[in-house]
Amino acid sequence: MKPALIGRELPEIQELLPPGEPAFRARQLYTAAYKNRASGWDAVTTVSRDLRARMAGQVAFGWPGVAQEFASADGTHRYLLELDDGRTVETVFMPEERRDTLCISTQVGCPVDCKFCLTALMGLERNLTAGEIVGQVLLGAVRHNLDPRSRQMNVVMMGQGEPLLNLDNVLKATRILCDERGVGMSERRITVSTSGIVNRMEALGRAAVRPKLAISLNASHEEQRRELMPITKKWHLRDLLAACRAYPLRAWERLTFEYVLLDGVNDTDADAARVVSLLGQLRCKVNLIALNPGPGIPFGTPAPDRVDSFQRIVQRVLPCFVRKPRGRDIYAACGQLKRMADADVTAAGGAPGLVAITHPPG
Ligand code: SAH
Ligand code: SF4
Repeated sequence: MKPALIGRELPEIQELLPPGEPAFRARQLYTAAYKNRASGWDAVTTVSRDLRARMAGQVAFGWPGVAQEFASADGTHRYLLELDDGRTVETVFMPEERRDTLCISTQVGCPVDCKFCLTALMGLERNLTAGEIVGQVLLGAVRHNLDPRSRQMNVVMMGQGEPLLNLDNVLKATRILCDERGVGMSERRITVSTSGIVNRMEALGRAAVRPKLAISLNASHEEQRRELMPITKKWHLRDLLAACRAYPLRAWERLTFEYVLLDGVNDTDADAARVVSLLGQLRCKVNLIALNPGPGIPFGTPAPDRVDSFQRIVQRVLPCFVRKPRGRDIYAACGQLKRMADADVTAAGGAPGLVAITHPPG
């Protein structure tokens, strides 16, 4: 496989250039790829046609291809992206009035076996490279006309995968996304979500450039969490909370805790009260997500009044929001990413996809 341009920091772009090219060429390519968001070699008009052609022979530009695109009635788009090795992974775009969010993947599949999540059923196929992570953002920004420098655009690493099990690539992608001379996003507009890989949280906290941190709590006590998220056997809830207390929050930052409500399992008022006692002392907010159902998931979605009651209890002490389900009809919502393709979506009662292959991997 050819090396790729996207995913490289400046010194690594320098290494790609033919001998004898001046150093500013690397900067030109860097600017074209990240600041101007060129989508292929042809769009890099700042260097000669000859150099472009020579580079294209040896180096992939590095954008993902779009294998399929699904559009939901609520404006959400789910992309099934094709990678260089033919594997596919998902990115979701969710427009809102005051904020647009791109939900990107960090692995193909996921090795963490959460019992309520469709991605878990895939197992882990492989880590994404930094370029494949950045590529999702570039593609989403260009297709939906988003400005990475504006407050309107947000990126959440909440698609397929456990980001902290691919931390080096996640951090490298973040550095590229946040470089003022390139993509130019603010660290405040990127969030990484983890199932609670405690030792990697410590490593994340030490990184000079890093996204905000969200933690998938999903249970109100140790034993319940072990059943829903078997990773708890390795990383205990009490150690996870200790890592949260020790986490070096920046002055503007607070932790986010996500909590998937499963009907009759972790959604009682007593659960809500326990969540408050677990988190009450932390600088944080809580996002509740009523289960998004899926084939093979042995849980139900709680009724709206249950969700309200849970929220009311947590809200007495902590900011607590209910996350609206987005794109459930196209299998784009939290926990539904399993690269469901056209026929499967229709069979499962969802809307059929929009467009087939529009842009092969570049
Ligand atoms: N692996 C990371 C990030 C991806 S999952 C993590 O687990 O944090 C993103 C969020 O979706 C997590 O908070 C997870 O708890 C939630 N989720 C998983 N399956 C879900 C489902 N079926 N319905 C609603 N939310 C779900
Ligand atoms: Fe992996 Fe997150 Fe799904 Fe758990 S919820 S299986 S960590 S993607």
